[in-house]
Amino acid sequence: METKDLFRRASRKLKKPLVFVVFKIVLVLVCVKSANAEPQENKLQWQSHELGSKDVLSHSCIHDQLLEQRRKPGRKEYSVTPQVYAESSLSNSLQHKGRALLGISRLFERQKDVKKPIRIYLNYDAVGHSPDRDCRTVGDIVKLGEPPVYPGALACNPHGDPPIFGDCWYNCTLDDISGEDKRHRLRKALGKTADWFRRALAVEPVKGSLRLSGYSACGQDGGVQLPREYVEEGVANADLVLLVTTRPTTGNTLAWAVACERDQWGRAIAGHVNVAPRHLTAEAETLLSATLIHEVMHVLGFDPHAFAHFRDERKRRRTQVTVQSLDEKLGRMVTRVVLPRVVMHSRYHYGAFSENFTGLELEDGGGRGTSGSHWEKRLLMNEIMTGSVDTRSVVSKMTLALLEDSGWYQANYSMADRLDWGRNQGTEFVASPCNLWKGAYHCNTTQLSGCTYNREAEGYCPIVSYSGELPQWARYFPQANKGV
Ligand SMILES: [Zn+2]
Repeated sequence: METKDLFRRASRKLKKPLVFVVFKIVLVLVCVKSANAEPQENKLQWQSHELGSKDVLSHSCIHDQLLEQRRKPGRKEYSVTPQVYAESSLSNSLQHKGRALLGISRLFERQKDVKKPIRIYLNYDAVGHSPDRDCRTVGDIVKLGEPPVYPGALACNPHGDPPIFGDCWYNCTLDDISGEDKRHRLRKALGKTADWFRRALAVEPVKGSLRLSGYSACGQDGGVQLPREYVEEGVANADLVLLVTTRPTTGNTLAWAVACERDQWGRAIAGHVNVAPRHLTAEAETLLSATLIHEVMHVLGFDPHAFAHFRDERKRRRTQVTVQSLDEKLGRMVTRVVLPRVVMHSRYHYGAFSENFTGLELEDGGGRGTSGSHWEKRLLMNEIMTGSVDTRSVVSKMTLALLEDSGWYQANYSMADRLDWGRNQGTEFVASPCNLWKGAYHCNTTQLSGCTYNREAEGYCPIVSYSGELPQWARYFPQANKGV
């Protein structure tokens, strides 16, 4: 079943009581937030402390924080292992045929045809095999990140506020142990994810086996050692290997993932995916599907490190992927993705055909630490690559376009779902802070000042009556024009 169908089903299933609980919490948070003098220091973490683990309604991604950690001295971000491709190098071919200009376009067509559905190989060997990081019995004290050496020095608060992520010692409960049922759910969910990407992305297939260096452990928090045979013999029928772990996380972070090996063109060939056993439940199945698509997108290329390797059609390194500038209208520094397909699909989505539209905004991280792993929530709301994922998340053409603009993949845009937020709202919508929005998006700013706050979207519009009908997914009330 396609994930987008899952999402649709889930949206239909959303029952009223649950919806009102969500609304109540949002309202409470809006109030808390507006009363707080330093909102940037108080990221919305409402599910984490308002609700128990079984009721988690969204996934908060910690990819930016992981990248920050990987920058620490002595930690390797990734290694490079060249692969053999059928058309071993386009630039070589171009050298032979370079003078025949007409030949080039034909060559590009051939290159396009060369791409085949991506083969993601999932390896579960490490599940339950990191003694200092996996919860095996209740009461085990395991590491999250790199805490001080003696246990008890810095205990994690599983419902932390703040931090939801950091270096600490975690006290295992029954929910954190990956028993047979949870492992079964894990395989099912990741299998579906790999299948979704097989249909969504094509890649120049690796010729023969995928070669991996295994030079250092792959991934985050000590990573995962690659199986020896992968290094010695390679992995047959694979374009990307994902090494899976089931270590605990805190807060409402269901999973995380990073790339750890790249080929000579910068494409990820190995990655580490961690899924918290606590969230491998029947209740979280739909949310987990969306979360895993989100996290694997980071491994595949939605990652500021990967941006540095993006290629154009001729496999030349792209000079411009993002552009950072001080935006006077928004009153802050803004990072925008200026990739050609992203710009084109954004123009069509927003109806932003003015030359003032130059690129699609990334989340700025509130001015702290790293940023650049997610779309700006204000503009893309329930798009899957914003910083928080829920059961209403959809994959838009803009995200697929970003992956295609990497030069590594060809995207199947029929896998994209319809994103209603911002549709045909014009350049003004994209360029303005939300308090200046008009029409259906107009927010009654007299109720709360949260609307002008530029970082978080969940709480910026209190209950208001809109002048037009809200998109179906945003309706929390019987009246089609009433929302939060
Ligand atoms: Zn993310």
